[in-house]
Amino acid sequence: MKVKVISILEDNYMYLVIEERGKQAVAVDPAVPHRLLDIVKREDLTLAAVLTTHHHWDHARGNEALRKELPHLKVYGRDDRIEGLTDKVTDNQELKFGSINVRCLSTPCHTSGDTCFYIWEDECTDDPAVFTGDTMFIGGCGRFFEGSANQMHHNLTQVLGTLPPETKVFCGHECTIKNMKFAVLVEPENNKAKEMLSWARARDEDDKPTVPSTLGDEFDYNPFLRLSEEAVQKFTEKKDPVEVLDVLRREMDKFKKPKERLPPHAMLALEWGLLRP
Ligand SMILES: [Zn+2]
Repeated sequence: MKVKVISILEDNYMYLVIEERGKQAVAVDPAVPHRLLDIVKREDLTLAAVLTTHHHWDHARGNEALRKELPHLKVYGRDDRIEGLTDKVTDNQELKFGSINVRCLSTPCHTSGDTCFYIWEDECTDDPAVFTGDTMFIGGCGRFFEGSANQMHHNLTQVLGTLPPETKVFCGHECTIKNMKFAVLVEPENNKAKEMLSWARARDEDDKPTVPSTLGDEFDYNPFLRLSEEAVQKFTEKKDPVEVLDVLRREMDKFKKPKERLPPHAMLALEWGLLRP
């Protein structure tokens, strides 16, 4: 199973999951359709489906245009607000495209219809992959726009956290440096976090993506998955894991305000809720 990582927009990722031996491919959050179609054409692939993690425009904005080009294309997701949605999925529903298997994992919080997609291929020794959209990032987690800390805690510990540790994590945005700076602030003694920050900076220098990580790696340095660590509890001054998570996310919101790096018109868009995450 091949996963093509395609950088788009400000810092988004769209993905193309391709069968190892076949020619079928599945796209995740293809928000810049012409770039996706160029690759599909160039590599002589059949685009079997679109999987949309949530309805935000920077993930779903390409669906209608893709369906215009490919009228039989199915667009899967769990929220009626997703542009071009043709097939609404339910929690734990499994889909199959050639040898590619997809399990839809309901993870409401960033939006109420958020879905992560766990994907593996038949008769393939590659590790499985999970596409987490804006629910979990490398070293971080998404904002709670339409949900509670309780829900995010469930998503991170019971849904994503119970997948095999070797699962590759492909998230919706490149925000690893910022996340790891925050992680080091939360856990100054965590060497894995410090190493990850330097590695992410080196990748940035080379203009290379930091995806994928693995779930096992995330447990080593992502503070949002380390709620019972003494340092994380000390930082948040809380003990209850849901409260620790809630304070962490609030502190993350305040951490390095976007004001410092965005032009005024973008700040206005952010205030109006037009910019994400
Ligand atoms: Zn989003």
